[in-house]
Amino acid sequence: MHTDFKLATPLRAQLKNVNPSATLLINERSAQLQAEGKKVYRLGFGQSPFPVPQVVVDALAANAHRKDYMNVFGYPELREAVAKHAERTIHISATADQVMIGPGSKQLIFGAQMALEADLLIPSPSWVSYEPQAQLIGKKVIWVDTKEDENWLLSPAALEAACNQSETDFKLLILNYPNNPTGTTYSSEDMMALVPILRKHNVIVVADEIYGEMHHTGHHHSMAQYFPEGTIVSSGLSKWCGAGGWRLGTFVFPKELSWLRDAMRVIASETYSSVAAPIQYAAVTAFSPSREMESYIKDSRKVVQMIGNFAHEKLAAANIVCPAPEGGFYLFPNFKNYREQLSARGIHNSTQLCEALLNETGVAILPGAAFGRPAEELTARLAYVDFDGEAALNSLKTNDLDPDEFVKNVCPNIDEAMAKMQTWVAQF
Ligand code: PMP
Ligand code: GLU
Repeated sequence: MHTDFKLATPLRAQLKNVNPSATLLINERSAQLQAEGKKVYRLGFGQSPFPVPQVVVDALAANAHRKDYMNVFGYPELREAVAKHAERTIHISATADQVMIGPGSKQLIFGAQMALEADLLIPSPSWVSYEPQAQLIGKKVIWVDTKEDENWLLSPAALEAACNQSETDFKLLILNYPNNPTGTTYSSEDMMALVPILRKHNVIVVADEIYGEMHHTGHHHSMAQYFPEGTIVSSGLSKWCGAGGWRLGTFVFPKELSWLRDAMRVIASETYSSVAAPIQYAAVTAFSPSREMESYIKDSRKVVQMIGNFAHEKLAAANIVCPAPEGGFYLFPNFKNYREQLSARGIHNSTQLCEALLNETGVAILPGAAFGRPAEELTARLAYVDFDGEAALNSLKTNDLDPDEFVKNVCPNIDEAMAKMQTWVAQF
Protein backbone atom coordinates (compact mmCIF):
# COMPACT_ATOMS: atom_id res chain seq x y z
CA MET A 1 0.00 0.00 0.00
CA HIS A 2 1.34 3.42 -0.95
CA THR A 3 2.13 5.45 2.18
CA ASP A 4 1.74 8.94 0.69
CA PHE A 5 -2.04 9.14 0.65
CA LYS A 6 -3.19 12.63 1.48
CA LEU A 7 -6.35 14.16 2.84
CA ALA A 8 -8.29 16.01 0.15
CA THR A 9 -7.72 19.68 -0.37
CA PRO A 10 -9.32 22.01 0.63
CA LEU A 11 -10.07 20.04 3.82
CA ARG A 12 -6.42 19.21 4.51
CA ALA A 13 -5.54 22.52 6.13
CA GLN A 14 -8.79 22.66 8.08
CA LEU A 15 -8.61 19.12 9.39
CA LYS A 16 -5.27 19.80 11.03
CA ASN A 17 -7.13 22.08 13.47
CA VAL A 18 -10.08 19.83 14.04
CA ASN A 19 -9.83 17.28 16.81
CA PRO A 20 -12.56 14.73 17.38
CA SER A 21 -15.45 16.31 19.29
CA ALA A 22 -14.58 16.95 22.96
CA THR A 23 -18.00 15.71 24.06
CA LEU A 24 -17.62 12.36 22.35
CA LEU A 25 -14.02 12.03 23.57
CA ILE A 26 -14.91 12.53 27.24
CA ASN A 27 -17.62 9.91 26.81
CA GLU A 28 -15.07 7.40 25.53
CA ARG A 29 -12.46 8.35 28.15
CA SER A 30 -14.97 7.97 31.00
CA ALA A 31 -16.06 4.57 29.68
CA GLN A 32 -12.43 3.47 29.47
CA LEU A 33 -11.67 4.54 33.06
CA GLN A 34 -14.78 2.70 34.22
CA ALA A 35 -13.69 -0.42 32.33
CA GLU A 36 -10.38 -0.21 34.23
CA GLY A 37 -12.41 -0.44 37.44
CA LYS A 38 -12.21 3.26 38.43
CA LYS A 39 -15.22 5.07 39.85
CA VAL A 40 -16.12 7.83 37.39
CA TYR A 41 -18.84 10.44 37.81
CA ARG A 42 -19.93 10.99 34.24
CA LEU A 43 -20.71 14.69 34.13
CA GLY A 44 -18.83 15.20 30.86
CA PHE A 45 -21.02 13.93 28.05
CA GLY A 46 -24.39 15.66 27.67
CA GLN A 47 -26.74 12.81 26.90
CA SER A 48 -30.36 12.75 28.08
CA PRO A 49 -30.61 10.40 31.07
CA PHE A 50 -34.30 9.70 30.43
CA PRO A 51 -35.66 6.68 28.57
CA VAL A 52 -37.50 7.17 25.29
CA PRO A 53 -41.21 7.45 26.25
CA GLN A 54 -42.96 4.09 26.00
CA VAL A 55 -45.54 5.39 23.47
CA VAL A 56 -42.67 6.36 21.17
CA VAL A 57 -40.88 3.03 21.65
CA ASP A 58 -44.16 1.26 20.83
CA ALA A 59 -44.56 3.38 17.71
CA LEU A 60 -41.05 2.42 16.60
CA ALA A 61 -41.79 -1.28 17.14
CA ALA A 62 -45.01 -0.96 15.16
CA ASN A 63 -43.11 0.64 12.28
CA ALA A 64 -40.04 -1.59 12.19
CA HIS A 65 -41.22 -3.02 8.85
CA ARG A 66 -41.02 0.34 7.04
CA LYS A 67 -38.33 -0.20 4.49
CA ASP A 68 -38.60 2.40 1.77
CA TYR A 69 -36.41 5.44 1.34
CA MET A 70 -38.25 8.52 2.48
CA ASN A 71 -38.84 11.95 0.95
CA VAL A 72 -35.56 13.92 1.26
CA PHE A 73 -37.24 16.69 3.28
CA GLY A 74 -38.82 14.06 5.53
CA TYR A 75 -42.00 12.03 5.99
CA PRO A 76 -44.89 14.44 5.25
CA GLU A 77 -46.94 13.40 8.27
CA LEU A 78 -43.95 14.00 10.54
CA ARG A 79 -43.29 17.39 8.97
CA GLU A 80 -46.92 18.27 9.66
CA ALA A 81 -46.56 17.12 13.29
CA VAL A 82 -43.35 19.18 13.71
CA ALA A 83 -45.05 22.30 12.29
CA LYS A 84 -47.98 21.87 14.70
CA HIS A 85 -45.56 21.24 17.57
CA ALA A 86 -43.85 24.55 16.77
CA GLU A 87 -47.23 26.28 16.74
CA ARG A 88 -48.10 24.81 20.15
CA THR A 89 -44.76 25.30 21.87
CA ILE A 90 -43.30 28.52 20.44
CA HIS A 91 -46.45 30.07 18.99
CA ILE A 92 -45.28 30.62 15.44
CA SER A 93 -47.36 29.74 12.42
CA ALA A 94 -45.72 27.04 10.35
CA THR A 95 -46.74 24.53 7.69
CA ALA A 96 -45.30 21.14 6.80
CA ASP A 97 -43.49 22.50 3.74
CA GLN A 98 -41.36 24.72 6.01
CA VAL A 99 -40.03 21.69 7.89
CA MET A 100 -36.97 19.59 7.11
CA ILE A 101 -36.05 16.36 8.91
CA GLY A 102 -32.40 15.33 9.16
CA PRO A 103 -30.22 12.69 10.84
CA GLY A 104 -29.71 14.77 13.97
CA SER A 105 -29.84 18.55 14.21
CA LYS A 106 -26.02 18.48 14.11
CA GLN A 107 -26.17 17.37 10.46
CA LEU A 108 -28.82 19.98 9.61
CA ILE A 109 -26.73 22.73 11.20
CA PHE A 110 -23.76 21.54 9.16
CA GLY A 111 -25.93 21.62 6.03
CA ALA A 112 -26.96 25.21 6.75
CA GLN A 113 -23.33 26.21 7.24
CA MET A 114 -22.41 24.55 3.96
CA ALA A 115 -25.26 26.09 2.00
CA LEU A 116 -24.85 29.71 3.12
CA GLU A 117 -22.14 32.07 1.98
CA ALA A 118 -21.75 33.96 5.23
CA ASP A 119 -19.33 34.30 8.11
CA LEU A 120 -20.36 32.29 11.15
CA LEU A 121 -20.98 34.28 14.32
CA ILE A 122 -21.09 32.33 17.58
CA PRO A 123 -21.24 33.58 21.15
CA SER A 124 -18.45 32.46 23.45
CA PRO A 125 -19.09 30.04 25.09
CA SER A 126 -20.90 27.88 22.53
CA TRP A 127 -21.50 24.18 22.01
CA VAL A 128 -18.39 22.32 20.83
CA SER A 129 -19.33 21.46 17.25
CA TYR A 130 -20.33 24.73 15.57
CA GLU A 131 -16.78 25.98 15.03
CA PRO A 132 -15.26 22.68 13.81
CA GLN A 133 -18.12 22.34 11.32
CA ALA A 134 -17.23 25.75 9.92
CA GLN A 135 -13.55 24.81 9.83
CA LEU A 136 -14.32 21.64 7.89
CA ILE A 137 -15.71 23.74 5.05
CA GLY A 138 -13.32 26.68 5.32
CA LYS A 139 -15.89 29.12 6.70
CA LYS A 140 -14.68 32.07 8.73
CA VAL A 141 -15.73 32.03 12.39
CA ILE A 142 -16.19 35.15 14.47
CA TRP A 143 -16.47 34.46 18.20
CA VAL A 144 -18.60 37.02 19.99
CA ASP A 145 -17.62 37.51 23.60
CA THR A 146 -20.17 37.43 26.41
CA LYS A 147 -19.91 38.28 30.09
CA GLU A 148 -20.25 36.01 33.06
CA ASP A 149 -22.18 38.65 35.04
CA GLU A 150 -24.66 38.84 32.13
CA ASN A 151 -25.25 35.08 32.35
CA TRP A 152 -23.00 34.56 29.31
CA LEU A 153 -25.74 35.95 27.02
CA LEU A 154 -25.06 37.68 23.73
CA SER A 155 -25.44 41.46 24.13
CA PRO A 156 -26.59 43.83 21.37
CA ALA A 157 -23.32 45.79 21.57
CA ALA A 158 -21.17 42.68 21.16
CA LEU A 159 -23.32 41.48 18.26
CA GLU A 160 -23.02 44.86 16.55
CA ALA A 161 -19.24 44.84 16.93
CA ALA A 162 -18.98 41.31 15.53
CA CYS A 163 -21.17 42.20 12.53
CA ASN A 164 -18.93 45.18 11.82
CA GLN A 165 -15.91 42.90 11.91
CA SER A 166 -17.40 40.53 9.32
CA GLU A 167 -16.64 41.18 5.67
CA THR A 168 -19.37 39.03 4.12
CA ASP A 169 -22.61 40.69 2.99
CA PHE A 170 -24.64 38.12 4.90
CA LYS A 171 -23.93 36.51 8.25
CA LEU A 172 -25.04 33.37 10.03
CA LEU A 173 -25.57 33.48 13.80
CA ILE A 174 -26.12 30.29 15.76
CA LEU A 175 -27.91 31.16 18.97
CA ASN A 176 -28.55 28.31 21.40
CA TYR A 177 -30.99 28.55 24.31
CA PRO A 178 -31.53 27.11 26.84
CA ASN A 179 -27.82 27.01 26.47
CA ASN A 180 -25.22 24.32 26.29
CA PRO A 181 -22.83 24.88 28.13
CA THR A 182 -24.20 27.58 30.46
CA GLY A 183 -27.74 26.42 31.34
CA THR A 184 -29.04 29.98 30.97
CA THR A 185 -31.53 31.40 28.47
CA TYR A 186 -32.77 34.67 26.95
CA SER A 187 -35.76 36.72 28.11
CA SER A 188 -38.06 38.11 25.42
CA GLU A 189 -36.53 41.56 26.06
CA ASP A 190 -33.02 40.15 25.55
CA MET A 191 -34.11 38.70 22.22
CA MET A 192 -35.97 41.77 21.03
CA ALA A 193 -32.93 43.93 21.70
CA LEU A 194 -30.92 41.86 19.19
CA VAL A 195 -33.45 42.08 16.35
CA PRO A 196 -32.66 45.56 14.93
CA ILE A 197 -28.99 44.57 14.66
CA LEU A 198 -29.83 41.27 12.99
CA ARG A 199 -31.97 43.12 10.43
CA LYS A 200 -29.44 45.89 9.86
CA HIS A 201 -26.57 43.47 9.14
CA ASN A 202 -28.45 40.79 7.14
CA VAL A 203 -28.01 38.07 9.69
CA ILE A 204 -29.75 34.71 9.40
CA VAL A 205 -30.23 33.03 12.77
CA VAL A 206 -30.18 29.32 13.42
CA ALA A 207 -32.02 29.21 16.75
CA ASP A 208 -30.73 26.01 18.30
CA GLU A 209 -33.67 25.16 20.56
CA ILE A 210 -32.85 21.51 21.10
CA TYR A 211 -33.24 22.10 24.88
CA GLY A 212 -36.42 24.21 24.47
CA GLU A 213 -38.74 21.59 25.93
CA MET A 214 -36.27 21.20 28.81
CA HIS A 215 -36.79 24.79 30.01
CA HIS A 216 -37.09 24.11 33.71
CA THR A 217 -40.35 25.98 34.19
CA GLY A 218 -41.77 25.41 30.72
CA HIS A 219 -41.39 29.06 29.71
CA HIS A 220 -39.35 28.56 26.60
CA HIS A 221 -39.85 31.06 23.79
CA SER A 222 -38.18 31.55 20.45
CA MET A 223 -36.25 34.11 18.44
CA ALA A 224 -38.65 33.13 15.62
CA GLN A 225 -41.36 35.04 17.52
CA TYR A 226 -39.40 38.29 17.29
CA PHE A 227 -37.40 37.85 14.08
CA PRO A 228 -39.70 35.58 12.07
CA GLU A 229 -38.33 36.28 8.59
CA GLY A 230 -34.73 35.41 9.47
CA THR A 231 -34.92 32.62 12.07
CA ILE A 232 -34.62 28.89 11.45
CA VAL A 233 -35.68 26.89 14.49
CA SER A 234 -33.55 23.81 15.13
CA SER A 235 -34.63 20.94 17.38
CA GLY A 236 -34.97 17.15 17.43
CA LEU A 237 -35.53 14.05 19.53
CA SER A 238 -32.17 13.95 21.31
CA LYS A 239 -32.70 16.05 24.40
CA TRP A 240 -36.40 16.12 25.28
CA CYS A 241 -37.29 12.64 24.02
CA GLY A 242 -34.27 10.76 25.34
CA ALA A 243 -33.38 9.56 21.84
CA GLY A 244 -29.93 10.95 20.95
CA GLY A 245 -28.95 7.68 19.31
CA TRP A 246 -32.02 7.63 17.10
CA ARG A 247 -30.53 10.53 15.15
CA LEU A 248 -33.48 12.69 14.22
CA GLY A 249 -33.31 16.48 14.02
CA THR A 250 -35.71 19.11 12.72
CA PHE A 251 -35.43 22.53 11.07
CA VAL A 252 -38.41 24.89 10.73
CA PHE A 253 -37.61 27.51 8.08
CA PRO A 254 -39.39 30.80 7.61
CA LYS A 255 -41.16 31.07 4.23
CA GLU A 256 -38.63 33.76 3.26
CA LEU A 257 -35.78 31.21 3.42
CA SER A 258 -37.30 28.56 1.16
CA TRP A 259 -34.29 29.01 -1.18
CA LEU A 260 -31.99 27.91 1.65
CA ARG A 261 -34.26 24.98 2.47
CA ASP A 262 -34.08 23.91 -1.20
CA ALA A 263 -30.27 24.15 -1.21
CA MET A 264 -30.16 21.98 1.88
CA ARG A 265 -32.32 19.42 0.10
CA VAL A 266 -29.63 19.15 -2.58
CA ILE A 267 -26.97 18.53 0.09
CA ALA A 268 -29.19 15.97 1.80
CA SER A 269 -30.07 14.15 -1.40
CA GLU A 270 -26.41 13.83 -2.37
CA THR A 271 -25.25 12.67 1.06
CA TYR A 272 -27.58 10.92 3.55
CA SER A 273 -30.74 10.71 1.34
CA SER A 274 -33.22 10.60 4.22
CA VAL A 275 -33.56 9.71 7.88
CA ALA A 276 -34.34 6.06 8.72
CA ALA A 277 -38.00 5.35 7.89
CA PRO A 278 -39.06 3.61 11.16
CA ILE A 279 -37.55 6.46 13.21
CA GLN A 280 -39.49 9.06 11.24
CA TYR A 281 -42.76 7.17 11.68
CA ALA A 282 -42.14 6.83 15.42
CA ALA A 283 -41.24 10.51 15.72
CA VAL A 284 -44.79 11.46 14.68
CA THR A 285 -45.90 10.16 18.10
CA ALA A 286 -43.18 12.16 19.86
CA PHE A 287 -44.16 15.44 18.20
CA SER A 288 -47.95 14.91 18.50
CA PRO A 289 -49.84 15.97 21.62
CA SER A 290 -50.73 13.16 24.02
CA ARG A 291 -51.16 12.69 27.75
CA GLU A 292 -48.10 10.44 27.83
CA MET A 293 -45.79 12.96 26.11
CA GLU A 294 -47.12 15.80 28.20
CA SER A 295 -46.50 14.08 31.51
CA TYR A 296 -43.11 12.74 30.35
CA ILE A 297 -41.91 16.24 29.51
CA LYS A 298 -43.41 17.83 32.60
CA ASP A 299 -41.80 15.22 34.84
CA SER A 300 -38.43 15.38 33.05
CA ARG A 301 -38.39 19.13 33.59
CA LYS A 302 -39.13 18.74 37.26
CA VAL A 303 -36.28 16.26 37.66
CA VAL A 304 -33.66 18.36 35.86
CA GLN A 305 -34.80 21.47 37.71
CA MET A 306 -34.36 19.78 41.11
CA ILE A 307 -30.97 18.34 40.23
CA GLY A 308 -29.75 21.53 38.56
CA ASN A 309 -30.70 23.62 41.59
CA PHE A 310 -29.14 21.08 43.95
CA ALA A 311 -25.83 21.05 42.04
CA HIS A 312 -25.87 24.84 41.74
CA GLU A 313 -26.35 25.26 45.49
CA LYS A 314 -23.46 22.92 46.23
CA LEU A 315 -21.17 24.85 43.87
CA ALA A 316 -22.19 28.17 45.42
CA ALA A 317 -21.54 26.77 48.91
CA ALA A 318 -18.06 25.78 47.74
CA ASN A 319 -17.43 29.35 46.51
CA ILE A 320 -17.44 28.23 42.86
CA VAL A 321 -19.08 30.93 40.73
CA CYS A 322 -21.89 29.76 38.45
CA PRO A 323 -25.09 31.22 36.98
CA ALA A 324 -28.32 29.59 38.18
CA PRO A 325 -29.69 26.98 35.79
CA GLU A 326 -32.80 27.84 33.76
CA GLY A 327 -33.05 25.02 31.25
CA GLY A 328 -31.38 21.93 29.82
CA PHE A 329 -28.95 19.97 31.97
CA TYR A 330 -25.73 21.96 32.16
CA LEU A 331 -23.92 24.25 34.57
CA PHE A 332 -20.90 26.39 33.76
CA PRO A 333 -18.87 26.75 36.97
CA ASN A 334 -15.93 29.11 37.20
CA PHE A 335 -13.14 28.20 39.67
CA LYS A 336 -11.66 31.70 39.53
CA ASN A 337 -11.87 32.13 43.33
CA TYR A 338 -9.31 29.31 43.59
CA ARG A 339 -6.91 30.58 40.95
CA GLU A 340 -4.02 31.14 43.36
CA GLN A 341 -4.36 27.80 45.10
CA LEU A 342 -4.76 25.98 41.78
CA SER A 343 -1.78 27.81 40.35
CA ALA A 344 0.34 26.68 43.32
CA ARG A 345 -0.54 23.11 42.31
CA GLY A 346 0.52 23.72 38.69
CA ILE A 347 -3.04 24.19 37.38
CA HIS A 348 -3.21 27.26 35.17
CA ASN A 349 -5.96 26.55 32.65
CA SER A 350 -9.31 24.83 32.23
CA THR A 351 -7.86 21.71 30.59
CA GLN A 352 -5.43 21.13 33.47
CA LEU A 353 -8.28 21.83 35.90
CA CYS A 354 -10.49 19.11 34.38
CA GLU A 355 -7.59 16.65 34.16
CA ALA A 356 -6.74 17.13 37.84
CA LEU A 357 -10.37 16.92 38.93
CA LEU A 358 -10.88 13.68 36.99
CA ASN A 359 -7.63 12.10 38.23
CA GLU A 360 -8.06 13.14 41.86
CA THR A 361 -11.82 12.71 42.35
CA GLY A 362 -13.19 10.72 39.40
CA VAL A 363 -15.50 13.63 38.44
CA ALA A 364 -15.49 14.10 34.65
CA ILE A 365 -16.40 17.56 33.36
CA LEU A 366 -15.31 19.43 30.23
CA PRO A 367 -12.99 22.44 30.07
CA GLY A 368 -14.38 25.85 29.13
CA ALA A 369 -11.72 25.95 26.41
CA ALA A 370 -13.66 23.26 24.47
CA PHE A 371 -16.54 25.77 24.29
CA GLY A 372 -14.46 28.64 22.95
CA ARG A 373 -13.43 30.27 26.23
CA PRO A 374 -9.87 31.53 26.67
CA ALA A 375 -7.61 28.63 27.72
CA GLU A 376 -6.51 30.24 30.99
CA GLU A 377 -10.06 30.96 32.19
CA LEU A 378 -10.98 28.43 34.88
CA THR A 379 -14.45 27.60 33.56
CA ALA A 380 -15.85 24.15 32.85
CA ARG A 381 -19.07 22.51 31.78
CA LEU A 382 -20.81 20.18 34.17
CA ALA A 383 -23.58 18.00 32.68
CA TYR A 384 -25.78 16.86 35.58
CA VAL A 385 -26.96 13.72 33.84
CA ASP A 386 -25.27 10.89 35.73
CA PHE A 387 -28.45 9.36 37.14
CA ASP A 388 -31.00 6.75 36.17
CA GLY A 389 -33.66 8.76 34.35
CA GLU A 390 -36.25 6.01 34.45
CA ALA A 391 -35.88 5.56 38.22
CA ALA A 392 -36.06 9.34 38.65
CA LEU A 393 -39.32 9.61 36.67
CA ASN A 394 -40.85 6.68 38.58
CA SER A 395 -39.80 8.10 41.90
CA LEU A 396 -41.58 11.39 41.13
CA LYS A 397 -44.83 9.44 40.96
CA THR A 398 -44.43 7.81 44.36
CA ASN A 399 -42.50 10.27 46.52
CA ASP A 400 -43.14 13.52 48.26
CA LEU A 401 -40.62 15.85 46.81
CA ASP A 402 -37.96 17.07 49.11
CA PRO A 403 -35.36 17.98 46.48
CA ASP A 404 -32.33 17.17 48.66
CA GLU A 405 -33.75 13.79 49.63
CA PHE A 406 -34.67 13.14 46.01
CA VAL A 407 -31.13 13.75 44.77
CA LYS A 408 -29.54 11.78 47.61
CA ASN A 409 -31.84 8.78 47.13
CA VAL A 410 -32.42 8.72 43.40
CA CYS A 411 -29.30 10.38 42.00
CA PRO A 412 -26.49 9.23 44.34
CA ASN A 413 -23.77 9.87 41.76
CA ILE A 414 -24.77 13.53 41.53
CA ASP A 415 -24.79 13.84 45.31
CA GLU A 416 -21.39 12.15 45.62
CA ALA A 417 -19.86 14.08 42.72
CA MET A 418 -20.86 17.41 44.23
CA ALA A 419 -19.50 16.34 47.62
CA LYS A 420 -16.22 15.29 45.95
CA MET A 421 -15.93 18.69 44.27
CA GLN A 422 -16.63 20.49 47.54
CA THR A 423 -13.98 18.46 49.37
CA TRP A 424 -11.53 18.90 46.50
CA VAL A 425 -11.58 22.69 46.64
CA ALA A 426 -11.79 22.76 50.45
CA GLN A 427 -8.41 21.05 50.79
CA PHE A 428 -6.57 23.79 48.84
N1 PMP B 1 -27.01 21.60 19.63
C1 PMP B 1 -26.66 21.49 20.91
C2 PMP B 1 -26.53 22.72 21.73
C3 PMP B 1 -26.38 20.25 21.46
O1 PMP B 1 -26.02 20.16 22.75
C4 PMP B 1 -26.46 19.11 20.66
C5 PMP B 1 -26.11 17.82 21.32
N2 PMP B 1 -26.02 16.73 20.68
C6 PMP B 1 -26.85 19.28 19.31
C7 PMP B 1 -27.12 20.54 18.84
C8 PMP B 1 -26.96 18.15 18.34
O2 PMP B 1 -27.97 17.26 18.66
P1 PMP B 1 -28.49 16.14 17.67
O3 PMP B 1 -27.56 16.09 16.49
O4 PMP B 1 -28.47 14.90 18.46
O5 PMP B 1 -29.87 16.58 17.25
N1 GLU C 1 -24.59 17.49 22.79
C1 GLU C 1 -23.97 16.62 23.73
C2 GLU C 1 -22.94 17.38 24.53
O1 GLU C 1 -22.76 18.55 24.36
C3 GLU C 1 -23.32 15.40 23.17
C4 GLU C 1 -23.62 14.97 21.79
C5 GLU C 1 -22.77 15.63 20.76
O2 GLU C 1 -21.91 16.43 21.10
O3 GLU C 1 -23.06 15.34 19.59
O4 GLU C 1 -22.26 16.79 25.34
